[in-house]
Amino acid sequence: MTDETPVTITVDGREVEACPGEMLITAAQRAGTDIPHFCHHDRMQPVGMCRMCLVDVDTGRGPMLQPSCMVPVGDGMIVDTKSDRTQRAQEGILELLLANHPLDCPVCDKGGECPLQDQTMAYGPGESRFVEEKRHYEKPIAISDNVYLDRERCILCDRCTRFADEVAGDPLIHFIERGNQTQVNTFPNEPFSSYFSGNTVQACPVGALTAKPFRFKARPWDLEAVESTSTTDSVGSRIVIQSSRDQVLRYLGVDSDPVNWGWLSDKERFSFEYMNSDERLTVPMVADGDDLVETTWSAALTAAAEALGGAEPGAVGFVGGARFTNEAQYAWTRLAKGVIGTDNLDAQLADGLPAELVLGLPRATIDQACEKNGTIILLGPDPKEELAALFLRLRHAAVFDGAKLIELTPQGTGLSGQAQVRLHARPGEQGVVARAIATGEISGEVGGVAEDDLRAAHALVAADGPVTVVLGRASLADDASFTVDAAQALASIDGVRFLSALRRGNVHGALDMGMAPGLLPGRQDLVSGRSSFQAGWGQTPAMPGLDSTGILDAAADGRLDVLVLLGADPLVDFPDTDLAERAVTGARTVIAVDLFHTASVDRADLVLPAAGFAETDGTTTNLEGRVTVLRQKVNPPGTARADWMIAAELARRLGSDFDANSPTELWAQVVAQSAAHADLDLDTLSAPGNRDGLVVGAGSVAVPAFPEAEVPAHDGYGFRLVVDRKLYDAGSQVRFSPSLAGLAPGTTVRVASVEADKLGIDDGTTVSVVSPAGTLRLPLERDPSVPAGIAAVAFAQGDHHVGELIDHSSPVTDIRIEKG
Ligand code: SF4
Ligand code: SF4
Repeated sequence: MTDETPVTITVDGREVEACPGEMLITAAQRAGTDIPHFCHHDRMQPVGMCRMCLVDVDTGRGPMLQPSCMVPVGDGMIVDTKSDRTQRAQEGILELLLANHPLDCPVCDKGGECPLQDQTMAYGPGESRFVEEKRHYEKPIAISDNVYLDRERCILCDRCTRFADEVAGDPLIHFIERGNQTQVNTFPNEPFSSYFSGNTVQACPVGALTAKPFRFKARPWDLEAVESTSTTDSVGSRIVIQSSRDQVLRYLGVDSDPVNWGWLSDKERFSFEYMNSDERLTVPMVADGDDLVETTWSAALTAAAEALGGAEPGAVGFVGGARFTNEAQYAWTRLAKGVIGTDNLDAQLADGLPAELVLGLPRATIDQACEKNGTIILLGPDPKEELAALFLRLRHAAVFDGAKLIELTPQGTGLSGQAQVRLHARPGEQGVVARAIATGEISGEVGGVAEDDLRAAHALVAADGPVTVVLGRASLADDASFTVDAAQALASIDGVRFLSALRRGNVHGALDMGMAPGLLPGRQDLVSGRSSFQAGWGQTPAMPGLDSTGILDAAADGRLDVLVLLGADPLVDFPDTDLAERAVTGARTVIAVDLFHTASVDRADLVLPAAGFAETDGTTTNLEGRVTVLRQKVNPPGTARADWMIAAELARRLGSDFDANSPTELWAQVVAQSAAHADLDLDTLSAPGNRDGLVVGAGSVAVPAFPEAEVPAHDGYGFRLVVDRKLYDAGSQVRFSPSLAGLAPGTTVRVASVEADKLGIDDGTTVSVVSPAGTLRLPLERDPSVPAGIAAVAFAQGDHHVGELIDHSSPVTDIRIEKG
């Protein structure tokens, strides 16, 4: 309901209130009267394609049949959804829809959850007068890597085509042919290669579109389900987890109004497969020479506790933990800071931002960022590649709600087409560009951005309406201090708020649970939180410790006795590959808690197999700070244990008892010790009205005075490097999900056409990419979204380590591209 004065309509003899301008079908639905429909979808524009929602509407000129999905409510409107005329219309529509429908329900994946089945039973004519041969098509045809189309089942409802065009902005699936031959299809040689293709399967009201990862796996009535939150990335899309015989078989999107509106990226939707991978770690392992051999939990935990207990606190470092639940993060923070006494703990792998900045700046929710007629400044990564469901929300705000978008990124993004102003600042110079648009002090080009563009951006920022900065790291090849600098400049804009774009699954929970140097749980620093935690924990660190770069540096220099990897794979996932390699080699003992044999796990001295998503209860925190409940649906494989349990066991062996035997009891400790979480007890979070979660309160962390970043001069190498991420990469979620594993695009060096022409190098030619840190041989790709002077390379693609080009001690990475 909007703030406008409601109108009153009569539905089946009952007076109900409706919002001016809303469609009749929506008003009736909210009032508890379901009108059958196929094409209508709450999150798409009305089209009136299927005519199934015809009802008798009387606006004063007598009742007549009208499609309720296309008729806006009007005061005094009288609606009859059960009149004889309505029923005859419904029977007629269904008879026509079924005229060519194969009715192969016994072998159709939709059978049992099919609106066409259900509505035929409820509103259909009972028998058909058609005796003619039905239409036949080749079935099924693959329209993308993961979606199959059975055209003869299609009822031409226009949902898939509207989703692709309106919602995803990937108009790659269309109606083709005419009349009786009209069909949904893709154009030849143009597959439906959208990051969001799985949404069309969920939206399709029949079994015309099916998902390869689920086809013929189970019947809907054999599935058990719980509602949960995706931790594929930090958006926290609400999902239903469906399983059968202790195996997760499907995720469906849930329409969470403040978050994902029911949409999921294909990575969120199909990455359930990695949970079922045969490659999962199932038993603890210990190094025996160059090999890992199986051991018992008792022996592994004892060895881990001896290593941790035998080291000086300052010689122990923990890296990772962003995939954990809030409760596991709290447990590992308590183990590190309260039991061992080290503050060397960091959930980010040098790809994020200082925790104090993220926690200290005024925060925005997704809804606030997407407010009508607001201004969004994108100072971060491409949301389409890293935070896909957020991309859909931001795109909707720009396309349909008048939001103005300023792209302050080193290269084009998936939102470039919607951006009013594109400010492609040179890496290292985003701060000076941000300062110019925040203050309006503009005289000439700055940071590679033209004066006119800076003025246009300043005008948007200075106009009425809320301003939100979507804040994250656009490139792993330059120092975080440049983004910090830009964020601080933008913080001077009146009333500005920040929506974090840190990407890792539960990284915001990790920051809130104190998994960063200098912090304690509850958005408190070591000083402000000391009194409340010392009493319960016995101790807290006196001084801020090392971040992940500092921890790896210490390990590489032989100053670290124990390096604990909490679901972290620095050999693949740390921007400076050389440092990661030296750290894993230099640490005396490496303990890995993980789900899979990764490159780093295979180099560990002790490996503790962990339970994954859907295998443990808990809570998670999304990029807004919204806490939602995660539910266990299946059991972990083998003897794998929940992450929180491993921390609690280690604490016990080190002579400390967490006094908690479940995630529930750990969360109770968080709620008791953190004022920011005081209103988020589990009963409140689990209440039916709080399905979408509740946002954590403000903490006491203030943004410190970060040193001003110095704008680096070009060193004459030719190109400044941008290292970005793609949705599909060599991370465990993609690599161990067979339906996704082949979708990683691989590593190329992307430059503007004008630069390729200058070099005289054709697309696809292998070139040498030379930085002061190393050389890679990569295919060259012309990319219109990359500005001149920039070379972009995707991170963690599996075939090459672009981290070999990066030296973390260098603020930017300049490269040369050489033939041959
Ligand atoms: Fe049956 Fe529905 Fe499948 Fe058609 S789409 S064959 S009605 S289950
Ligand atoms: Fe509708 Fe499904 Fe046909 Fe697409 S394929 S038009 S969603 S019935």
